[in-house]
Amino acid sequence: MNYRHAFHAGNACDVVKHAAFSLVLKTLTSKGGPLTVLDTHAGAGIYDLQDAEALKTGESQQGIARLWKGLQKEMETESLPSSSPLTSPLDLLAPYQTVLARLNPEGNTLRFYPGSPLVAREILRPAQEGTSADRLVACELHSETFSTLQNLFRRLPVAPGPEVQLHRRDGYEALKALMPKPGERGLVLIDPPYEEEGEWDRLTTAVRDIGRRWPGGRAMIWYPLKDRSTIWRWHESLRAEGVPGLLAAECRLEEDARSDRLAGTGLVFVNPPWRLEETLVQLFPLLQRLLDAPCPGTSLTWITPSRD
Ligand code: SAM
Repeated sequence: MNYRHAFHAGNACDVVKHAAFSLVLKTLTSKGGPLTVLDTHAGAGIYDLQDAEALKTGESQQGIARLWKGLQKEMETESLPSSSPLTSPLDLLAPYQTVLARLNPEGNTLRFYPGSPLVAREILRPAQEGTSADRLVACELHSETFSTLQNLFRRLPVAPGPEVQLHRRDGYEALKALMPKPGERGLVLIDPPYEEEGEWDRLTTAVRDIGRRWPGGRAMIWYPLKDRSTIWRWHESLRAEGVPGLLAAECRLEEDARSDRLAGTGLVFVNPPWRLEETLVQLFPLLQRLLDAPCPGTSLTWITPSRD
C-alpha cells in the first residue's frame, strides 16, 4: 500500500468526485428517513494544501485552487446560491461549496481540503425530533492515514451531527460485514487507489454483492479515466452481473488518448437518485468550465437499465 491521497487531494479529478458526491448526498438527505453512508476507502479526511506532500505535486493548483477562484468570480456576478429550488447551474455546486467555505472561513485562498468522510459528515443530518441521526461508517486500512482520520473526528464536536463509526479495516471486507440491510436507506462510496492487481474484479464483486444482498441499495464508485479498453471490459463485466440501474458517468478534462495519464473522473452509480443524469449533464460542463479543462467531454451511459 504505497498510495497516499495527500499527494493528490484537491486535484481536478478529486474535485469532480467530491462535487458529485456532495450533490448526491444533498439529494438523498433532502427528504426521507435516516441514511447510512459507508465510505470503504476513506483516506485521511482532511488535507492541508500547504503541507509538503501537497506542495510537492502542486496538483491542487489545477484543481480546487482554480475552482475556488472561479466560483468567487462567478459569485460576484450571480446571486448567492440559495436553498430555494435550483435557479442557476451554479446552485449545483452549492452543497460542495458550503462544505469548503465552512472549513476555510477566511475565504480568499483555500487551504484545508475535505476528503470524502468529512464531506459526508458535513452534509449528513443530526438527530431531529422523532428521527434518528444519519450514520457515517468510514473505513481506512493504512495505519498512519487512519490515525489522521481518527484525530480529525476526535476534534470535531459529536453533536449536532451524524452518528460516526471509524474502522481500520479492509473496505471490501467491511462492505460484506456492514452493508445496510434490505429496505435501509444508504449510499456506499468505493474509492480505491487502483494500485493493486485485481481492483476492477473486486469492484465487480462488490456490485454483485450489493445487487444480491441489498436490492435497491445505492453506491457510487470512482474510477480513473485512463485506459479505455480496461474501462470497457469492466463495464462489460458489470453488465454481465445483471444488477439493474448501473449508470456510468464520465467527466473528461484532458485528452483521452494516453493510457498512462489521468484524463478525468469516471463514476459508476448503482441506483442513482432519480434523474441524476439530468443533473450531472449540467454539473460536469460547469466544472469543466470553472476548472478550465483543456479537452472537456461528458458521457452518461446506462450499463444496465434502472428498474423504474
Ligand atoms: N475517498 C477518499 C476521498 O475522497 O477523500 C480518498 C481515498 S484514496 C483514493 C484511497 C484510500 O484507500 C487511501 O487512503 C488508501 O490508504 C486506502 N486503502 C487502500 N486499500 C484499502 C483497502 N483495501 N481498504 C480500505 N482502505 C484502503
